[in-house]
Amino acid sequence: MAFTGSRRQFLRCALAGAAGLALQPYARTAMANRDAHRPPNIVVIFTDDMGWGDIGVFGHPTIRTPNLDRMAAEGQKWTSFYVAASVCTPSRAGLMTGRYPVRSGMASDRRRVLFPNSNGGLPQSELTIAGALKQVGYATACIGKWHLGHLPEFLPTEHGFDSYYGIPYSNDMARTREGDYIAMNKNPRVEYFNVPLMRDTEIIEQPADQTTITRRFTEETVNFIKANRDRPFFAYLAHSMPHVPLFRSDAFEDVSRAGRYGDVIEEIDWSAGRIMDTLRELELADNTLVLFTSDNGPWNLLFTTHAGLPGPFRGGKGTTWEGGVRVPTIFWWPGTIQPGVVMDMGTALDMLPTFAALAGVSLPDDRVYDGYDLSPVLLNEASSPRDSFIYYRGEQVYAARRGAYKAHFITQGAYGSGRERTEHEVPELYNVEIDPAERKDIAEEHPDIIAEIRAMVERHKATVEPVENQLTK
Ligand code: MG
Repeated sequence: MAFTGSRRQFLRCALAGAAGLALQPYARTAMANRDAHRPPNIVVIFTDDMGWGDIGVFGHPTIRTPNLDRMAAEGQKWTSFYVAASVCTPSRAGLMTGRYPVRSGMASDRRRVLFPNSNGGLPQSELTIAGALKQVGYATACIGKWHLGHLPEFLPTEHGFDSYYGIPYSNDMARTREGDYIAMNKNPRVEYFNVPLMRDTEIIEQPADQTTITRRFTEETVNFIKANRDRPFFAYLAHSMPHVPLFRSDAFEDVSRAGRYGDVIEEIDWSAGRIMDTLRELELADNTLVLFTSDNGPWNLLFTTHAGLPGPFRGGKGTTWEGGVRVPTIFWWPGTIQPGVVMDMGTALDMLPTFAALAGVSLPDDRVYDGYDLSPVLLNEASSPRDSFIYYRGEQVYAARRGAYKAHFITQGAYGSGRERTEHEVPELYNVEIDPAERKDIAEEHPDIIAEIRAMVERHKATVEPVENQLTK
């Protein structure tokens, strides 16, 4: 049974279920099971630069994603799910810490992400999802792209992960030749990008063979799950694809009607299927929460056919339009999550408090969190506690959403788009439920709503304290 965004509609669905459809009380049963056994395993599958519109069930016409479509049919498809930033490093800092990246120094107006010559990274003082779950005995593995600092003190093994297998920064970095960056990415060769593959703290391959990287990250995750089947585990599988340069294994070469980009997504879909099949085979599916989502919107504005689609949304990677930060999101937990479509807001910032609640972890109260516990929504007991979202570009608030209304205080195009940074004395205002593509500025009709959003932003800003910037270090 699908349910939709508003509290009223949700209640109506819930009452209909209670009245006559004889639905199982999944949530209560699952709670009882968890109490009797152990906290749930958690698997986060995090793709890089995948667009909202790149999955069949999110509307792509020619990319085949049968596994993700099934995952959505069996789980919850979230249509208003955001990440904390529209580029890699700050988005990942937000996911891992439950805090806007400006709070940890992981956002910058001058260098938007970490590079191979960066000296900074996620500070030791930050508590990650892995660090929190370790406190209650979870086995933890980071597999894939990290991008929160490649120097020894910033690696995943210093942030609560028992093990690490992956690349420490983006797959388009450490270029071995000069020349046209876009052309190099559109006609890529492995040796153009001298990206290291690491195991724990050691480099084991350089350049990483990116043609097999999605397959190898997947097998590593499957092996981790098998090895830890008898204890709670957290697997963070952060694919480096479909960030340019696009690579796929031989088995996925020229298989998609959507070209090379489609091949890459279809391999990621295969990967998600492998994970879910493994969980079923090991009889762990009913005690494992799987989240599938992306770190930011597609790089469509620069890479066209070598990038994804933002679905119905405006803009893409690098922008604070919806296409930059609204990402395709599926939660799967057979027997516990009741299938449905959730139109309420959720964000990657909410994952730390959500997972902590499910695992029974108390978070330290010495810092500001920006996340909400979404577990009541996952367990089908409530509508989302989140009614607002702040859109950052670097260290600055560009826009804010409250309910259906989103105000843009500053607008700017993506890299190389030609649209200059513009500060708006009267913000642009959109109703992103009626107008998800942000086409019709309705600011003139709603000065009261703008005032409310402005006040909300000021309250938020008052909680942000200056810290050392890690990206410009
Ligand atoms: Mg990214």
